[in-house]
Amino acid sequence: MGLLDGKVALITGGSRGIGAALVRRFADEGAAVAFTYRSSAHQADALVRAIEQAGGRARAYQSDAASYAQAEQLIQTVYGDWERVDVLVNNAGITDDTLLLRMKEEQWDRVVQTNLKSVFNLTRHIARNMMKARSGSMINISSIVGLTGNPGQANYAASKAGIFGFTKSIAKELGSRGIRCNAVAPGFIETEMTDQLDEKVREAYLQNIPLKRMGSADEVADLCVFLGSDRSTYITGQVISVCGGLSD
Ligand code: NAP
Repeated sequence: MGLLDGKVALITGGSRGIGAALVRRFADEGAAVAFTYRSSAHQADALVRAIEQAGGRARAYQSDAASYAQAEQLIQTVYGDWERVDVLVNNAGITDDTLLLRMKEEQWDRVVQTNLKSVFNLTRHIARNMMKARSGSMINISSIVGLTGNPGQANYAASKAGIFGFTKSIAKELGSRGIRCNAVAPGFIETEMTDQLDEKVREAYLQNIPLKRMGSADEVADLCVFLGSDRSTYITGQVISVCGGLSD
């Protein structure tokens, strides 16, 4: 018996990193998983094959989460293919770091559109379906940088802090319809996103983490499995960190 047996999950940005761990862990726990990617078609196909070989169910969809129109089309297609979605994980995200005085308008817009507007896009288009079903769990992947701020990441931190206000508002709007909405704030997690950091920044982070190590994508996925499952039915409107103690 898996924690997500019989559920259908939709995960944005599932081709790599934390998203790929989410896809694998959700499938391991019995969910049928629809996931999106923007450009990593080969990685997405390989992930689908690996899950099918392990006896699970998954399908990949090319869809830009930053596009309102593509999100609308995606939700229609996924409901056509799977008939329902019980868990939505808004995970797609990017960084484009630089100090404020060097930040171009496009850098601000691209990061905010991909990380924050995407959450609105998917939530807006799925909400009516979940309201009809009178159930659903929405999980928004933010970052502890949205809580703490970080020099060189004003665009990223603002986009991730925006997710907190959005999550709490949606929890209040949709709670009476049986829909839960929570935010997860990962700390310093080993993925391609953090591979780009230079060695000095990495060392400084590690010194400040009480658990003295980076987290794994699976450790983030484990919390999301719990939030997507019926083990968390009285939890909504919360921001939960997975950060080895870094944000405290
Ligand atoms: P990653 O390894 O760079 O993977 C990002 C994923 O998002 C990829 O699957 C990518 O697909 C997808 N993606 C990017 N833009 C997209 C778009 N416009 N539409 C659809 N998919 C898109 O990143 P990660 O480290 O796993 O991060 C995942 C999430 O966790 C992000 O929201 C990030 O901000 C958050 N987070 C990460 C850390 C960390 O330490 N790694 C810490 C805190 C929060 P393609 O490959 O096709 O582009």
